[in-house]
Amino acid sequence: MIIIIKNSSSTKQINAFKKSIKKSRLDVTLHKSDRRTFLSVHGAISQELKDQLLSFPLVENVVQETKPYILASLDYMNKPTVIDLNKRLIGDGSLLLIAGPCAVESRKQIMEIAQFVMECGAHVLRGGAYKPRTSPYSFQGLGEKGLQYLAEAKEKTGLAVVSEVLTPEELNMAVHYVDMLQVGARSMHNYPLLKAIGAINKPVLLKRGMMATIEEFLLAAEYILRGGNSQIILCERGIRTFETLMRNTLDIGAIPLLKSLTHLPVIADPSHASGKRQFVPALAKAAVAAGADGIMIEVHNKPAQARSDGPQSLLFPAFKKLAAELFQLHSFIRNHS
Ligand code: PEP
Ligand code: MN
Repeated sequence: MIIIIKNSSSTKQINAFKKSIKKSRLDVTLHKSDRRTFLSVHGAISQELKDQLLSFPLVENVVQETKPYILASLDYMNKPTVIDLNKRLIGDGSLLLIAGPCAVESRKQIMEIAQFVMECGAHVLRGGAYKPRTSPYSFQGLGEKGLQYLAEAKEKTGLAVVSEVLTPEELNMAVHYVDMLQVGARSMHNYPLLKAIGAINKPVLLKRGMMATIEEFLLAAEYILRGGNSQIILCERGIRTFETLMRNTLDIGAIPLLKSLTHLPVIADPSHASGKRQFVPALAKAAVAAGADGIMIEVHNKPAQARSDGPQSLLFPAFKKLAAELFQLHSFIRNHS
């Protein structure tokens, strides 16, 4: 059982409360971070005791957890988390479109792409400044310069910007430039990074590890929630299966499954799932039909010269067409369900 404590409670009040319930010989553990405090109680609890606990003024709620994750679960919060990204709501039933290159390569490149995706209706510009590359010899990103170009593109287009960080040090740098931080598939298990992100007050795009189960994915989100940051958007980006002809296998079922388990918004990334631009439109539409709150797509002005993920990046005309189709499909589904 979880006893959620009101944020306004002082340490003294919490300690006194903990002491008083320990008297009932309950095995109680206090979980405290800057912005969230709760007590977990082991063992079965009677309805009578639950009612008693609820009568304490500092108790916000008492819930029986049924899953290994607590704060990410619907047991904890049975209504969707809606995130405000520069006044654009995510998880409120609208469709979020994130688009941009895999990596920021130059000022000219990111400006051109930002302008185009904005004109096509995208809400967020993506672009990696710190790239997690499989080979140490591949382009590793422009670092802070890349973040500066993203901030310039934001200034010019009004788009919010998202970029990946791989370490707590990069996080400290990126918070000054971006509106949303990305934790990539390879970093989903990087617990020091998740803890550092839990301590900040900015939306986070958390991608599913390529070999992570849904439960592991939600436990990664739990690390961030536990730190007090509840602005998390989950991203299904394809998992590794026995199939090798596609880069990954987009787990479409993960979208409704996650929605049945968590209150956090869920989006899909068909670009990294497929690895080939020809399959991106079909996967993107399938994800919208499956109930995704948003789609993230890689787009490049010159994919043949891209320094990373060129083969999966859409050309401008294909992106324009797909963006229009996704918004249309989304409103059709919304009006017919
Ligand atoms: C990316 O979005 O650029 C990326 C590296 O994706 P993933 O972490 O899903 O591989
Ligand atoms: Mn990429």
